[in-house]
Amino acid sequence: MKVYVSVDIEGITGVVHGDMMMASEREYDRGRRLMTGDANAAIEGLVDAGATEILVSDGHGPMRNILIEELHPAARLMTGAGEARDACQLEGADVDRFDAAVFIGYHAMARTPGAIHPHTIAGAAVAELRINGRPHGETGLNAAVLGSLGIPVILVTGDTATVAEARAFLGDGIETVAVKEARGRSAAICRPPAATRPEIREAAARALRNLGNARLYAPDRPLRLELDFNTMPQCDRAARIAGVERLGPVTLRILGDDPWQQYQTLWAAIRNALYEPAGWLG
Ligand SMILES: [Zn+2]
Repeated sequence: MKVYVSVDIEGITGVVHGDMMMASEREYDRGRRLMTGDANAAIEGLVDAGATEILVSDGHGPMRNILIEELHPAARLMTGAGEARDACQLEGADVDRFDAAVFIGYHAMARTPGAIHPHTIAGAAVAELRINGRPHGETGLNAAVLGSLGIPVILVTGDTATVAEARAFLGDGIETVAVKEARGRSAAICRPPAATRPEIREAAARALRNLGNARLYAPDRPLRLELDFNTMPQCDRAARIAGVERLGPVTLRILGDDPWQQYQTLWAAIRNALYEPAGWLG
């Protein structure tokens, strides 16, 4: 069995603050070590349950956080800059016929109360993302895109808000592990790795053993994928991408009937939105 493992950092055991999430900050090395640890716990469980191929995709910020020298030998690592990827957090999901996907260290969507660093893809640019009119975060969006490739999501880990979001979108049958309970954007009651890692390992193994019960997340197609930006200049820049339709001052629609392609267009639009021109261009 082949499993795709997408890893973010905001929902990792013990990570609550930007000082563990950003490469420029003093606690970043601890954050990436904790990230690698939660990923390894999931890999161990997947191996226990018979996974033969595991591709881990580093999906946070610089997208090269996970320490390969500490990564479980059963996995390969998709690592490298977001601007060099066409498919953002899901890069490589199309290289093989994966049987299942696992989301480790995920976070709640933009505007979720009681969540660690809630945002959708890029908090600096994206105010709200909708599929068929319903606001979606990365859990729902990525599950819909993977669903279009025939890949069900079988496990989501993160804070309690993320776990609730995963159940709301993917159903109560999904395995989840809540590693912390947010008390604010950058504070949470956390369980230590010695407690969460065995739980992640067991949940991953159980999820893969019960793969027969897994459901694809497949919102009605064509997906009506819409995006509200924080500012009009961001939307101006994003609107230059082929395959988008402008609906309003800060709103775009991503066209098409292939969610994998729409996701790549979405990522191109967000990259453009985030691009700040050199000062001399005004
Ligand atoms: Zn992240």
